[in-house]
Amino acid sequence: TIMTPSTPHQFKSTCSYCGVGCGIVVNKDHQGRLSVEGNEDYPVNRGMLCSKGMNLHHVVADQTDRLLHPMMRWHKAMPRQRVRWDQAIDRMAAVFKSTIAKHGPDSVGFYVSGQCTTEEYYLANKLAKGFLKTNNLDTNSRLCMSSAVVGYKKALGEDAVPIAYADIELADTFLITGANPAWCHPILFRRLEQHKAAQPEVKVICVDPRRTQTAAQADLHLQIIPGTDIILHHAIARGLIEQGWVDYDFVQNKTEGFAEAKGAAFKRSLREAAQMCGISMQDLTLAIRYIGQAKNLISMWTMGLNQSSIGVDKNLSLLNIHLITGQIGRAGAGPFSLTGQPNAMGGREVGGMANLLSAHRDLNNPAHRQEVADFWGVEEVAAKPGFTATEIIDALQSGDLKVLWIICTNPSVSLPDAIQADLAMQKGTFVIVQDISNRADTIDWADVVLPAAGWLEKEGTMTNSERRISYIPKVVDAPGEALPDTEILMRFAKKMGFHGFDFETVADIYDEHCALTKGTNIDISGLSHQRLKTEGSFQWPVPHPTHPGTPRLFEDQKFYTPSTKAQLFAITEDQYVAELPTEEYPLILTTGRIRDQWHTMTRTGKVNKLQQHIPQPFLEIHPLDANMKGIKEGMPVRVSNERGTVEVCAKITEDIRPGVVFLPMHWGKRISHRKSRANNLTANRVDPVSKEPDFKYSHVQVEKIEWP
Ligand code: SF4
Repeated sequence: TIMTPSTPHQFKSTCSYCGVGCGIVVNKDHQGRLSVEGNEDYPVNRGMLCSKGMNLHHVVADQTDRLLHPMMRWHKAMPRQRVRWDQAIDRMAAVFKSTIAKHGPDSVGFYVSGQCTTEEYYLANKLAKGFLKTNNLDTNSRLCMSSAVVGYKKALGEDAVPIAYADIELADTFLITGANPAWCHPILFRRLEQHKAAQPEVKVICVDPRRTQTAAQADLHLQIIPGTDIILHHAIARGLIEQGWVDYDFVQNKTEGFAEAKGAAFKRSLREAAQMCGISMQDLTLAIRYIGQAKNLISMWTMGLNQSSIGVDKNLSLLNIHLITGQIGRAGAGPFSLTGQPNAMGGREVGGMANLLSAHRDLNNPAHRQEVADFWGVEEVAAKPGFTATEIIDALQSGDLKVLWIICTNPSVSLPDAIQADLAMQKGTFVIVQDISNRADTIDWADVVLPAAGWLEKEGTMTNSERRISYIPKVVDAPGEALPDTEILMRFAKKMGFHGFDFETVADIYDEHCALTKGTNIDISGLSHQRLKTEGSFQWPVPHPTHPGTPRLFEDQKFYTPSTKAQLFAITEDQYVAELPTEEYPLILTTGRIRDQWHTMTRTGKVNKLQQHIPQPFLEIHPLDANMKGIKEGMPVRVSNERGTVEVCAKITEDIRPGVVFLPMHWGKRISHRKSRANNLTANRVDPVSKEPDFKYSHVQVEKIEWP
């Protein structure tokens, strides 16, 4: 355990929370005690860490809630009992075999996480798609980045973030939309702040229905009505075209679809668009001027665009702005989707989604399927796409999916329409939960609980938002009988009798993954654990062993589309219509994160220092809405709609638009005794292409209550 006396050591690692991927130095003293500091040599953060990163060692040191040994129950009515690893794996293999024999391979599935290492993702993907013969492997990254992925693929021909963090210091204009990096990507935002302090002429536009910390520091805050992003993007595009702030040379030679995209953007006048977005004409024209006169424009976005039933179109209409202005493929300019999780990008590299194969290969492409099958030494990879995150829940509910293996994620709190998700998981014939902590609510539905090693207790690699791959060393032993996820997956695969899972080291798994990327757009065949350990981090592609990595993509202005030209899209439906306010539910609920908590608080929730920032869940509501209901500051309120209720205290603030309320997404039932799970209210409603759920728009009613 970490208290075993040992030699003091320093280990270079990467923060395991957000997609910024800050470099960390972990110090281990003679007593095995850990401390962390920012790695001053690391190009991402240059020594800086945010509150979450600074407190990482407390999470590792506090082992009070750790899962220490496998637990199992023989039928749903029984309590789970401690079992040996071989008993758990034997039972799992027996259940998988009998279920597949009776109901076919698509009756089993996996739900994994953007917090898994790349090697874990690779093995789970190989196991499901290569050997169990099902593409039922999806990830909680589906809830985060999948709309951006589809946007990039359609417009640029590849799921490829074009720029590097180093471009921040080269840009003079930032359009931050549907994101609050001041709280959710703090070190990236600190770089932007430092840049703006050094160059005050830098302009920052923030688009958000809430006056967040990011908005408060912006030169211009467009406080739009939720769901009006496409109308805003179209208005900006129209204004740029009308003012002549278009790079026609780039448009003509490097893009396709301008006339159609222009037609869609000109559907509404600027005045009509401003009115529909709920902003002034003055602010809209100022935003158009800032963007039109930008030498180098970076747009940053996350969940405000992605987590929507029109998320792909929001992305495409934003990418149109970069393409008509030629703001891509050169230093200091480009679209930049900020990854939420530390390894959402690594997961996509291995093809860890229900519609993907290794190295961004397409499941719909027979040649791609055959390449992967040949590499793995199996006859074929099934053509049918697997169930995506919310489809997993639908399939458990309908009985089509009978066995679900959940790794490193807590869907009971994080999936939309959480009450129904709970019922579906409860109904699942056989549910396996593999986690580090008993604070994960999902354990309630587990027939088998597997204790996993956490960050610093295992080695592997991760890829951050700028395509930077870093090596994460093992520093301490895992507690009790907890095992690295790779070891658990290999033990299971061997018990199933599958070949190709007898890796001696985690580095061997990584080598196999890298070899499978050879010749693709994300080729990292020049990388190995050894190279990452000795030379530091690299941005993909890294196609040969002396290649220095690729900070910026599309510098030759050739895109990955068949014509090599970027695609402009005409978005004809610009309005959000999925769930509008009604007389019964007159307010729009949007959900999101707070500064010092991470996801469902299974780690940050146990750090006192982080708890002090905002210790309790709350509902942000505008004074006008609060007054109408007689709600005073701090008063308990019930937020409800047809899906469920949440009971928290009111935080009355003019920082949110009238008509809109906000709940943080972190609190689940194991963390808070009250009904504070925001996803009781969100809908199982997804973008039709990306299948990303809509967490940013639910109609609700709010009323004051007495605590029971
Ligand atoms: Fe960790 Fe993100 Fe904070 Fe960096 S900004 S220390 S990666 S949580």
